[in-house]
Amino acid sequence: MGADRPVLLLGGTGEARDLAARLVAADIPVVSSLAGRVAQPRLPVGEVRIGGFGGVDGLQTWLREHDATAIVDATHPFAATITEHAAVAAHATDIPLLRLARPPWIAGPDDQWLTVPDMAAAAREVGRRGGRVFLTTGRQDVGVFAGIDSAWFLIRVVDPPTADLPTHHQLLRSRGPYDLDSERTLLSDNQIDVLVSKNSGGELTRAKLVAAAELGVDVIMVQRPAEPGVGTTVHTVDDAEDWVLSQPTCRRGV
Ligand code: NAP
Repeated sequence: MGADRPVLLLGGTGEARDLAARLVAADIPVVSSLAGRVAQPRLPVGEVRIGGFGGVDGLQTWLREHDATAIVDATHPFAATITEHAAVAAHATDIPLLRLARPPWIAGPDDQWLTVPDMAAAAREVGRRGGRVFLTTGRQDVGVFAGIDSAWFLIRVVDPPTADLPTHHQLLRSRGPYDLDSERTLLSDNQIDVLVSKNSGGELTRAKLVAAAELGVDVIMVQRPAEPGVGTTVHTVDDAEDWVLSQPTCRRGV
């Protein structure tokens, strides 16, 4: 035991990549974990494993086999299953858990948001309104909108969705970050009436909201799922780095 006991960094976000780079630079043994959802993921520096663990039991097995020193859950705010698994596995293995969750976006005075509790509620609202919809919820949630014939959808995804798609749609394959000029152009060229977004937070995809506010486009904003509230929660990569560095067992050779 000792030299290479790793921090398990559950990732798939820009913050996780940033934190991995900082921990590698600080000589902290770290293994970044990606779900393997996208065909060509942006890889963090340092050691990486890709693919599910096989449920919460598989995650616990991994933690024990690798004698992990800590878990940092830096997954996306809507990746609720892995966040729940991390909380359960940390408790069962008695391994310290940090949740790095970027702050949600907050509506400003120029924003016209309708906040809804989940994707099904967003789909009901879109069905009620019809019109021209910019769907930015990601590939895994597109199927919820499949039965809506009263609207036209511009669907932005990294990889093509496997679910059924709405009758009237255009797929736009691209990956952020996005700048304000291109978001403004996209919304006006496609005569978008309503933008559907998860409240993901962060700067990489925020420009669409600024463009929507400028152009008077309504936003249907899907609230985040509840967090288990286990372990320590921080909202910035700086604080996450400080937390790891403050854990004596995370240092190499301890
Ligand atoms: P999820 O619904 O919470 O997780 C579903 C299953 O995927 C988990 O049970 C786990 O499989 C596996 N998994 C998820 N994240 C993993 C990770 N970092 N390493 C290893 N296995 C992981 O997650 P999701 O919403 O599908 O998101 C998957 C990944 O994409 C996450 O890492 C997340 O940070 C990233 N992401 C998600 C979104 C989003 O909107 N949901 C957006 C951007 C990025 P097992 O049960 O087999 O362990």
